[in-house]
Amino acid sequence: MPDITRFAPSPTGGLHLGHVASALSGWRPANESGGRFLLRIEDIDPGRCRAAFAHELMSDLHWLGLRWPAPVRWQSRHLGEYARVLAQLGERGLVYPCFCTRRDIADEIAASAHAPHHAPDGSVIYPGTCRGLPARQRDALLAAGTPHALRLDMERALSVPGARDLTWHERGQGRQQCRPELFGDVVLARKDVLASYHLCVTHDDALQGITLVTRGEDLRPATSLHRLLQHLMGWAEPQYAHHPLLCDASGRRLAKRDRAMTIAAMREQGMSPHDVRAAAGYPGPLA
Ligand code: GLU
Repeated sequence: MPDITRFAPSPTGGLHLGHVASALSGWRPANESGGRFLLRIEDIDPGRCRAAFAHELMSDLHWLGLRWPAPVRWQSRHLGEYARVLAQLGERGLVYPCFCTRRDIADEIAASAHAPHHAPDGSVIYPGTCRGLPARQRDALLAAGTPHALRLDMERALSVPGARDLTWHERGQGRQQCRPELFGDVVLARKDVLASYHLCVTHDDALQGITLVTRGEDLRPATSLHRLLQHLMGWAEPQYAHHPLLCDASGRRLAKRDRAMTIAAMREQGMSPHDVRAAAGYPGPLA
């Protein structure tokens, strides 16, 4: 079966070697199976993403020899589509508005007898303050235009038939058990933009017919959540292949802030596309 894969960077800085490894991990199976490799710009975060970075990373990927079909999907141009999904989840009672600030959440946790619990991605599990807001109070806050996020009601989501028994297929490793409950009431729409990474990536993988999601090992836990969203929305299930993250000589994960690891710096040093691909762990020819 031909694989349809994608590379989905967030344009928050220059392309670095870790990105190249990720892009090639998607490009290779697509190429080898006679499938397709897509590029998607995940730029919903207005504070951190810049169009200039996106153009720069496309030019670096092109220089490396990668090609992808047009048009490239820029998530920031499709916010209405994500809003429609949120509305559907809202009608089913699966999301609720959360008016809490970070401070409110910290205070709530401090006031309770329990230590904060953390989700697999390191975020603090939301204590559920706004889940139980009386409808009148919630409506008044909404009517007053109070800034709010939208959170998934995890308990309700898990009560949807089949939601507790989800698995995903990890290529080469077989079926993996999903543990979406470990994330608690995760944010599906941020306060500043009516969208979130988890929602948009899952929506777009389905919309674009991605059959194999390749990405870094750091995102493996999020796959549980993505499978839950696919289940709730009736979206097709892709396969997954999480690749190890590149480390430096001392075994530390490559950091974005390390300028020596940017492709721009490598180009300035006179490295060839082949040298850079080899440094990312793909020494062979591209075609
Ligand atoms: N936009 C995400 C990132 O840059 C990647 C998402 C994914 O591959 O699922 O980390």
